[in-house]
Amino acid sequence: MIFIKITTAEILCVGTELLIGDIVNTNAAYISKALAEMGISQYHQSVVGDNVNRLTEALEEALSRSDLVITSGGLGPTYDDLTKETAAKLMGREMHTDAESLEAIKTYFEKTGRVMTPNNEKQALVPEGSVVFKNPNGTAPGIAIEDFERGKIIIMLPGPPRELEPMFRDSVKPYLLKFTDKVMLSRNINIFGLGESSVENILKDLMKVSTNPTVAPYVNTGEVRLRVTASAPTYEECEKLCKDMIEKIQTTEVGRYIYGIDAGSLENALLSKLIEKKLTFATAESCTGGLISKRMTDLAGSSAVYLGSIISYANEVKEKFLGVSADTLKAYGAVSEETAIEMARGARERLGADIAVSTTGIAGPGGGTDEKPVGLVYVAISSKRGERVKKLNIAPGRSVRDYVRYLAASNALYLALEEASEL
Ligand code: ATP
Repeated sequence: MIFIKITTAEILCVGTELLIGDIVNTNAAYISKALAEMGISQYHQSVVGDNVNRLTEALEEALSRSDLVITSGGLGPTYDDLTKETAAKLMGREMHTDAESLEAIKTYFEKTGRVMTPNNEKQALVPEGSVVFKNPNGTAPGIAIEDFERGKIIIMLPGPPRELEPMFRDSVKPYLLKFTDKVMLSRNINIFGLGESSVENILKDLMKVSTNPTVAPYVNTGEVRLRVTASAPTYEECEKLCKDMIEKIQTTEVGRYIYGIDAGSLENALLSKLIEKKLTFATAESCTGGLISKRMTDLAGSSAVYLGSIISYANEVKEKFLGVSADTLKAYGAVSEETAIEMARGARERLGADIAVSTTGIAGPGGGTDEKPVGLVYVAISSKRGERVKKLNIAPGRSVRDYVRYLAASNALYLALEEASEL
């Protein structure tokens, strides 16, 4: 039996708009991610303008290298939409009208109250013998041309992401699974409080010998993410491989710095924990100037647990709205353990929250002294369990102010997460 087995794919996006930078190629990113999850490797990607010769050349080249070529764009009704005809010619197929697609296009026009032009009928033309993917969100159907002689497939998808993405998810992915023999799954381990080099140092032997799943570190500001990727014939096997590896990593020294698996971010992890424990949260922010509040309220659903913030930049505001005593401010200064604790306490009491955090520090670039240098930040927490404060010496990065403020906010979120876990 002749069959097609897909191990390599490449994406070819069609459209002059992409070449001149008018639109960002989100389709390539979307399809790439989906292919990687399916265990299909990709070594090339290209973009070509709306031009028959260059499109033919690009398709030929892509087919010579890969088992599967996925195109996006150029399926519309206008003269510059050339993808179908070009691919059909290259694969030696005649065009014919697909009755079901024509019906679907007519229905789509009726449903949306638009007038159908003869041009739109062109969108129901497909190369003979091809597989047609329905497009419930637009008019151009998706098309797969299978060439069993060469063991190759071309899949053509419409350009608009709101059409392409559901089509890929609902029709193309199940179709492609017939031609692959493995899937791929990635899980992310979220780590805070341990640098990338320390993580690598602890896990280097494990990372070196692990081929399935693989373990790779990625760095975000102040955080490390370990991506564990497994490939196997089924998702269940992948899940098991990933789970075993995650458990192994949890037993190492890295384990106590792990704050979540696929948590997304510290604020996401905190939000989930607060919701799970039915706890409310408030903030008193000086040097972070509302950044913690922003990071919390960026998340949909945060209103269920996040009460608000008192942004107390000036000492008078710390006194008046948070109840920080004038004596404390005078004796220890605004950037001090004592002030941080009183700020957190004030926020918790005055906003009526289960947990409150505060930040006060020197964000820089100016304003540092020998005694209180740039990067010195106190982060305090108050809950019914008590109060505590953490002193941070944040080594200023390239953009001092942003970096210090971001890390101060991250530390405050982390402290709140720890506290919420204990309550
Ligand atoms: P239509 O029927 O709307 O003409 P089409 O399949 O012919 O669809 P194009 O005309 O190439 O697709 O693109 C239509 C729109 O889809 C573009 O204007 C753009 O907004 C979006 N689009 C096209 N290609 C991409 C891409 N690679 N990434 C993101 N958006 C894209």
